[in-house]
Amino acid sequence: MLDYQEALKLVLDNTKVLGNEKVFLADSLFRILAEDILADRDNPPFDNSGMDGFAVRYEDIKGASKENPAILKIKGEIKAGGSQVEVTKGTAVSIYTGAVIPKGADTVIQKELVKVEEDRLIISQELPKGANIRTKGDDYKKGQILIEKGTLIRPPEIGIMASVNKPTVYVKQKLKVGILTTGDEILDIGEPITSPSQIRTSNTYSLYAQIKQAGAEPIILGFAKDNPEDLTEKLSYAKTCDVLLTTGGVSVGEYDLVKDFVSKVLGVKTIFWKIAQKPGKPVVFGTWGTENQKLFFGIPGNPVASMVVFETLVKPAIKKMMGFEKVHNPKIKAKLKTGYKRKKGDRLEFIRVKVEKTDNCFFAEVTGKQGSNILTSMLKANGLGIVPKGTTQIPKNAEIEVILFDTYFLNE
Ligand code: AMP
Ligand code: MG
Repeated sequence: MLDYQEALKLVLDNTKVLGNEKVFLADSLFRILAEDILADRDNPPFDNSGMDGFAVRYEDIKGASKENPAILKIKGEIKAGGSQVEVTKGTAVSIYTGAVIPKGADTVIQKELVKVEEDRLIISQELPKGANIRTKGDDYKKGQILIEKGTLIRPPEIGIMASVNKPTVYVKQKLKVGILTTGDEILDIGEPITSPSQIRTSNTYSLYAQIKQAGAEPIILGFAKDNPEDLTEKLSYAKTCDVLLTTGGVSVGEYDLVKDFVSKVLGVKTIFWKIAQKPGKPVVFGTWGTENQKLFFGIPGNPVASMVVFETLVKPAIKKMMGFEKVHNPKIKAKLKTGYKRKKGDRLEFIRVKVEKTDNCFFAEVTGKQGSNILTSMLKANGLGIVPKGTTQIPKNAEIEVILFDTYFLNE
C-alpha cells in the first residue's frame, strides 16, 4: 500500500494549474494574480510635502535660532492638487500635505514649529535641507514590477493596483469543486429521520466549508443512494466541475460502488486506491476530462476521515490548481504533552491535537477519542499530529510534527 508522502506526490504530480480570467479589481480579493503589476509612473510622481507647513529655501533658514530667528514673507499658499507658485529669496509659501513643492523651495518646516504674524513667518530653528519633502520616485519608479504574478491578492495589493490604474486584472480562474454525497443511510439537513439507522450528513457541509476556506468554489451536486441508477444520474452532474469529491462508498463493501461508477460515467482513470494512513485509508484518487486536467477524490465516509483527507491531500491539490505557490498547511514541531499509544504501527496516523504556544514553544495535546467517526474531537483540535508508520508509542513531551489547519491561536 502507498505511503502518505508517495500518495501526496502522485496527487501533486498529476495536478495542473488552471488558466486565467479577467475580473474587476474590486472583485479580486483573495484571488491569485496572473499578471505582473507594473508602475505606470514614478511614485511619488513629483516632489511633495509630507506635512502641513511652509515651503522655504534652506539658505533662508540656515542658522535660525530663538535669539536670531529667520523672518520670511508669506507670499501665498499651495494645497494638494493646487497650481504652481514660486518661492524666491526671503519668502515662504504656506503648503499642505501632498502639495507640489514650489519652484525654488527645498525644505518644508511644519506648522507647529513656526509663528505667523500677519504675512510674516518667524522661524526659530534650523531644519536639515530637504526636511519633510517626499521626493519623486522615492517609493517606486515607472516600469518597476510592484507585484509579481502568483501573489495572493489582499487589500494592499488592491490598493497598489488601483494606484497604477488597473480597473480590471488577470487572476487564476475560479476552481469549481463538486461534492457528491453517497450512502443509502445519509440524509441532508432538514430531511426527517424516519428510522434509527439513518445518519445526518456532516461531510457535505464540512467539505463545503473546507473548499471555501481554501479559496475555491464548492458546488453541492446532491445525494446519491448506493445503487447504479442513482449514482449514474448524480455523477453526471459533475461534468462542469474541475474537481469532484465524493464521500462514502469507497471501502471494500458490496455497496461501495463509487470507484467503478466514476470510471463508467465520467471516465475517471484511477491513479491510486488506498493509502497506508489512518484515518482515510480507502481514499481513491484519479484524473478525468480532456487531457486529464480534472481531479477526482473518492473520500471515505467517516466524518473525521473526510476532513483529514481534505486537509492532507485535497487541499494541496486544489491550491496548486488555483496557482498558489504555497500549497501546504503550515507544519510545526510540538511537544506532545499527553503522549500517545496505539496497538499497531502499520500505518501513518494523523491524530487530532490542540496546539498552544507557551514561552515560544509549541505544546500539543490529543483532543479525545481518535475513532474516525468521532467528529467532536475535531471541534477542539487545531492541528493533526503525525504518528509515523512503525511507531506505536510517543512518550509524554516527545516532539512530533503537527500540520496546523487553524492558526487563530497564534493571535491569542
Ligand atoms: P462509507 O465510507 O460509505 O463506508 O461510510 C463510512 C461511515 O461514514 C459510515 O458509518 C457512514 O454512515 C458514515 N458516513 C458516510 N457518509 C457520511 C456523511 N456524509 N456524513 C456523515 N457520516 C457519513
Ligand atoms: Mg456508504
